[in-house]
Amino acid sequence: MTALTDVRDTITQLRREVCALHAELTRYQLVVWTAGNVSARVPGHDLMVIKPSGVAYDELTPGNMVVCDLDGRVVEGDHAPSSDTDAQAYVYRHLPHVGGVVHTHSTYATAWAARAEPIPCVLTMAADEFGGEIPVGPFAVIGDDSIGRGIVDTLHGHRSPAVLMRNHGVFAIGRTARAAVAAAVMCEDVARTVHVARQLGAPVPIEPRYVDQLFDRYQNAYGQR
Ligand SMILES: [Zn+2]
Repeated sequence: MTALTDVRDTITQLRREVCALHAELTRYQLVVWTAGNVSARVPGHDLMVIKPSGVAYDELTPGNMVVCDLDGRVVEGDHAPSSDTDAQAYVYRHLPHVGGVVHTHSTYATAWAARAEPIPCVLTMAADEFGGEIPVGPFAVIGDDSIGRGIVDTLHGHRSPAVLMRNHGVFAIGRTARAAVAAAVMCEDVARTVHVARQLGAPVPIEPRYVDQLFDRYQNAYGQR
């Protein structure tokens, strides 16, 4: 029996989950055309499930998701994987706690990325989800490890699960693909609200001790136990 046969059920489940999560990107208007993608790590295996490249959101099915190894090589699938596969594979190789990665060019967050400006922590919802500012990563282009390295290096030492890659867009991580999608949704929401706030004046920062308190409560006590 091959290793792939052992994980057949897990992969079937993740194909469904990753496919379904793409509908959240369109529902929250984080993507246009074929841009953006979601991936999930196959727990316990050096594999990931990711969106196929250039396929319209309406045409995504569990069956056309692509299974790749963590060097970005296709293991199973009829389509080429997302062009962000190498960047996401790099994240999975270097951050073992990450189970899901999301990439979008959502409008407001990407406008901050275009200015290379971190989004300051001036909202309790930002403290909850990001534990501080949402940082900016370096300018990088597809073709080598530089996007993946930029994401990992920037998030190192930040509590934020999202990074604004300069002149590009959002990469968000999570313990699961669903958590990574939530971070991408919240990142856009925070980016939009702080942008609106700035139109009429300077947003007021939240004291660091309250940022810590909010982050701790939201990460450890919020929601259904
Ligand atoms: Zn992109």
